[in-house]
Order: sequence, then structure tokens, then C-alpha cells
Amino acid sequence: MAPIPGSGLAKGLAVTLRTMTKKSVTAQYPDNQPDLPPRTRGVIGLFEENCTVCMLCARECPDWCIYIDSHKETVPAATPGGRERSRNVLDRFAIDFSLCMYCGICIEVCPFDALFWSPEFEYAETDIRDLTHERDKLREWMWTVPAPPALDPGAEEPKELVTARKTADKLAAQQAPPASEPHADQQARAAEQPTLPQGDSKQQTDQPEPGRPTPGQEGAE
Ligand code: SF4
Ligand code: SF4
Repeated sequence: MAPIPGSGLAKGLAVTLRTMTKKSVTAQYPDNQPDLPPRTRGVIGLFEENCTVCMLCARECPDWCIYIDSHKETVPAATPGGRERSRNVLDRFAIDFSLCMYCGICIEVCPFDALFWSPEFEYAETDIRDLTHERDKLREWMWTVPAPPALDPGAEEPKELVTARKTADKLAAQQAPPASEPHADQQARAAEQPTLPQGDSKQQTDQPEPGRPTPGQEGAE
């Protein structure tokens, strides 16, 4: 069936009229900041203390836009006669956000929880070269990462929390005095008490007091 001439125009005007009567939803950015969902992929924050320079994130990044430099450092043995250890020390950690495609692979593969999504998005630059951000900036963004959501009531407790609590309990048990051991001043008081001769209690009560005659001596006088 052929369309009625002018029906398209009428439909368009109907949509315009309907929209005109609705309340505006324009957000007055930047005066009003948007209320972003907590899992927003704004930028990547680095928690440097957790990074062991394993290079996994740089190797897995499909855009090769993570740059890491490090050097090795020798750590002296913890105990006499022990072996020295070597560890990687981070010198540079940078991400080129002009290449990054926000896939999140680096965050997923990091085995030490050193990378996080931050909802921060106001880092536009006029020069593309300024979009390579170094570790100081990545650390600053770390503090804008929202706290993780609360666990479901029936969820299993994270293994990190269980391990931390067990360690704290073990330390507390090591530091607390044993329950059966008497206190130091109780031990001192016990040492001051006169010790009674060995034997049964009957024998002890039958002992004459010093200076008092025994029954046999009384009769002789
Ligand atoms: S989000 Fe993806 S592209 Fe961006 S740095 Fe991480 S792995 Fe690379
Ligand atoms: S994967 Fe994690 S620990 Fe390894 S280098 Fe990257 S950020 Fe550091």
C-alpha cells in the first residue's frame, strides 16, 4: 500500500511535540559532575607497592602501550649464613592512553592486584604525546578508585582476609602469657611462704610447738 502523502511529516511533528513537553535531562557539566557507576572504565590507576615488575600486563596488552623499566637489586640474607636474594625494582611504569583501547586485559591479568579502574575521565590533552602518563600520575589516579562493593551476605570470605586474620590470631597467641603460668608477683609471694616438712597432714599437726614440752616430758617434771 502506498504511503499517504505527508504522513512522514506528521509523524515527525508528533515526535517533536511529545519531546517538547518532556522535562529536559541535560546535565550541566562541568558545573555538575556526572554520577558515574562504580565500574566505569575511566583511567587505569597503579598501586605501585603491589607491583613486582613481573611484566605480565605489558606482555598481554594487545596495543603494547604499557612501558615498564626496572633493575635488579640484591637483598642481603635475612639470617646469618642464609642466601642473598635478588628482586626487581620498578624504575618506570607508563601507559600511553592515546593507544589504550580500555579493554581491561592488563587489570585482569595482573596477579598482584596492582592495577585498577578509576572512574576519572578528565585527562584530555591538546597534544597526543601528553597522553602517555607516568607512574606518579597513575598513582594519583589510584586514590580515585572506589572501594569494592560489599560482599553478598552468603558469600565466601576473601582468602586474603582469612589469611590476615589467622596471622593476627597466631601473633596474639604468641604474645599472650600462657594461662596456666602464675603471674610474676604470685610467684614471688609463693617463694616468701615458709615451706612445711614433707609428710602427711596428720604428722604435721602432731609436731610440738617450739619451747613447749612434749607429753612425756610433762609427766617427768
Ligand atoms: S586496557 Fe587494554 S589496551 Fe589499555 S593498557 Fe590495558 S591491556 Fe593495554
Ligand atoms: S602485571 Fe601487575 S605486578 Fe606484573 S608488572 Fe604489571 S602491574 Fe606489575
